[in-house]
Amino acid sequence: MNQDDHQLTRRRLLAAAGTLPIAAAASRALAQEAEGQPMPGNSQLPETPGERMRWAIVGLGSFAIGQVIPGFGDARQSRMTAFVSGNPEKARTLGERYGVSLLYNYENFDRIAEDEQIDCVYIVLPVGLHAEYTIRALKAGKHVLCEKPMASTVAECEAMVAAAKEANRQLGVAYRVHFEPANLEAQRRIRAGEIGTMRHVQCDHGFNTNPEYPPHVWRLTRALGGGGSMYDVGVYGLNTSLMMLEEEPVEVSAVYSTPAGDERFREVEGGIDWRMRMPSGISVQGSSSYCYSPYASRQRYFGSSASIIMDPATTYYDNGLVMEGGGPRREIGAGNTIQQFAAQLDGFSEAARTNTPHRTPGEMGLRDMRLIAAMYESADNGGAVVKL
Ligand code: NDP
Repeated sequence: MNQDDHQLTRRRLLAAAGTLPIAAAASRALAQEAEGQPMPGNSQLPETPGERMRWAIVGLGSFAIGQVIPGFGDARQSRMTAFVSGNPEKARTLGERYGVSLLYNYENFDRIAEDEQIDCVYIVLPVGLHAEYTIRALKAGKHVLCEKPMASTVAECEAMVAAAKEANRQLGVAYRVHFEPANLEAQRRIRAGEIGTMRHVQCDHGFNTNPEYPPHVWRLTRALGGGGSMYDVGVYGLNTSLMMLEEEPVEVSAVYSTPAGDERFREVEGGIDWRMRMPSGISVQGSSSYCYSPYASRQRYFGSSASIIMDPATTYYDNGLVMEGGGPRREIGAGNTIQQFAAQLDGFSEAARTNTPHRTPGEMGLRDMRLIAAMYESADNGGAVVKL
């Protein structure tokens, strides 16, 4: 205890022992505190439960059950009213647990058009099914948040964007990193010039696929995966890097890095190393792989005066943010990573309810799919530069 602390403690003791003027002043202060405070001028007040946007979740797989559905527990503008599943038993069990009573399957899905208890639809299906169910939901008059990557092809993405325009409904791509506190803090610091001028971005994303594990089985097929590692995890590097920059690529190049003779990769690539060149002259360089161990999720932003390292950068629970250069190495706390799921739901609900632009619209998913298509074109041609 230092000297000031000691004196404070002594004063409190004297007051407690009946030093009346001090006690009276203290009780006046308490009476003032009890008069209340103005409403916080915060537009983010939680909606009352009856007013929240009502969501249907389509596809009750590992990500939906593990992350999306629990995310509603922290949401303030969103609640679940419906599940769509090909497995009625699973839908019933989850419905009982989460108080969701409207259960649909893939055959009667279009009947959601008559269901006034559904405002928004979250597509959490394998990639090859995103376009079909997104367009069906939009035609049913619902707003749609679709998981990443947006779809299998550029043409499908274009059709999804057109369907949203036609239906006058919101279409978002679930790039949760745009709602994640550490990445938002990195974006703020980069845009505020805290690393000087951006000189280079590097990113690596990957994991080791298990051909026996059902969620990996469909990822290894062209029909349901759309593409390979670039679709599933490379898209985090691509999209997150562009989130930090204020320019769009003008050319891309890529080479495949699929292990020769690996039986897992008969239909989709096991790995790809890629580069995007920006108008300012800098490049973003990345790798994605279905053959990395342990799970890699790493972003590095090299500036003229400092660097930001995020490792991991795009996970569910614990993204890190470190600044190096311009002083001692600093670990920066930015908030709880897990908030991203509820924040993403509420961000979309808000956009849908107020008909205002969403942070990660369909057009962003389409842009990314065009870039990935250009990377494949380059890799198919031995790494030749593709101008955009
Ligand atoms: P899963 O295989 O675990 O779940 C997919 C679900 O889709 C299945 O459980 C099933 O649900 C339904 N489904 C319908 N038709 C098929 C079919 N022909 N084959 C397989 N499943 C089918 O996959 P994930 O949960 O890992 O991925 C789902 C989506 O979420 C993908 O788009 C993926 O890219 C995305 N994702 C996003 C992440 C993120 O961080 N943003 C992380 C992980 C995945 P049911 O039994 O209810 O019909």
